[in-house]
Amino acid sequence: MVDYVNIFMARLQAKNPGETEFHQAVQEVVESLSLVLDRHPEYRSAKILERMVEPERVIMFRVPWMDDQGEVQVNRGFRIEMNSAIGPYKGGLRFHPSVNLGILKFLAFEQVFKNSLTTLPMGGGKGGSDFDPKGKSDNEVMRFCQSFMTELCRHIGPDTDVPAGDIGVGGREIGYLFGQYKRMRNEFTGVLTGKGLNWGGSLIRPEATGYGCVYFAAEMLATRGQTLKGKTCLVSGSGNVSQYTIEKILQLGGKVVTVSDSDGYIYDEEGIDLNKLKFIMELKNIKRGRIKNYAEKYKNAVYTPVDRSGDYNPLWDHKADCAFPSATQNEINGKDARNLLKNGVSVVAEGANMPTHIEGVRLFLDSRIFYAPGKAANAGGVAVSGLEMSQNSMRLPWTREEVDNRLGIIMRSIHKTCVECAERFGTPGNYVNGANIGGFLKVADAMLDQGLV
Ligand code: NDP
Repeated sequence: MVDYVNIFMARLQAKNPGETEFHQAVQEVVESLSLVLDRHPEYRSAKILERMVEPERVIMFRVPWMDDQGEVQVNRGFRIEMNSAIGPYKGGLRFHPSVNLGILKFLAFEQVFKNSLTTLPMGGGKGGSDFDPKGKSDNEVMRFCQSFMTELCRHIGPDTDVPAGDIGVGGREIGYLFGQYKRMRNEFTGVLTGKGLNWGGSLIRPEATGYGCVYFAAEMLATRGQTLKGKTCLVSGSGNVSQYTIEKILQLGGKVVTVSDSDGYIYDEEGIDLNKLKFIMELKNIKRGRIKNYAEKYKNAVYTPVDRSGDYNPLWDHKADCAFPSATQNEINGKDARNLLKNGVSVVAEGANMPTHIEGVRLFLDSRIFYAPGKAANAGGVAVSGLEMSQNSMRLPWTREEVDNRLGIIMRSIHKTCVECAERFGTPGNYVNGANIGGFLKVADAMLDQGLV
């Protein structure tokens, strides 16, 4: 089986050169799935995995727009339609200068497994652009979104492909994208999720990824009769996922001491309480400021700028019980993972997608802490997006309690699937294997049923 994994990876790398994040995401999954393929030769002979790493469709397009100075700008847009075996493509759009084909393929690949775990009928996709919304005026962001959607609208639809937000794409961007879709197609449909509440959005969608991640962590702790009460938590990022992760940790009695953005991080030994969180939300969502402003307001907090020459992230080097990486991919390397373990962290729940480098993943698994990979722990966001699609189809909004209750049920069900699949394939307590196998089986069986397409 080691041979199978090596040969599979060598072929994948040769066929997709330079797409390092995509290779990393596939490697982790193939290692888990070797356990399944051993027992189920039918998946191997139907080349299910070989088909799953090949996107059903990749759309790449020019996005021209004009900045406030009247100068022409050109960005690149993408949509990866990865797998539609169990439902329409579903996954976010990321606007960030680092966006490229390899990053979006890794995200789309992860999304297939994550969406399958949610129990809802959603295939996997992802998209975005190398456009950087930071420092742009609202008008510039609007012109960019309109140009982006002018092309994208040919490829998506409520029964075909339903994008949502991700890094750099929040409520403002979804609004501009939806407005342009409606104008181009002359239809009001649930083609995007994360919409405003008064035009088709779902209650709890903004909170869902962060809340869901904390529900998952609480579920893991409950297997040993523990709770988050009194636990010290490290959180990275200060965007959508981080904000609601912090809110839910506070509601469950935990203490949060860190928060960050791409320029640096805050260590607040006293803890980030609800008032300080309100400050962060206003700073990030309305003023679009930098996290260092937090230390200017709260004098006891310490701000440390990012040291790009360093080989570790000091945010992960504080005494704590739990870590919730919620910024971006590969933000925890091997050294960071060792620091977390040395400092007593026994729960790592990934709000971000693939925030832990493969060396760190192995260290977490070997140390037998509670380690929840992003495709399980952060699935709450897409799950409530799925619930938004249901409400749009029914043209009937649900209450906050109803959606939150369903989110809780889905996160518990994902947890159960992970635990059961890990056990069934001989690796109890290994949530990475559990999530990869649980997500795979449903999609693989649907692909077998649907023939060679
Ligand atoms: P936001 O854009 O709201 O926030 C992202 C945060 O991470 C910001 O604080 C940002 O800092 C920081 N960040 C982004 N890129 C980098 C980088 N290269 N280095 C350091 N810090 C960085 O995004 P979200 O909160 O929506 O997404 C965060 C993570 O969660 C991503 O991995 C995303 O894929 C994942 N995710 C999001 C879901 C959702 O529903 N939104 C669902 C599931 C997963 P700065 O302000 O300086 O850019």
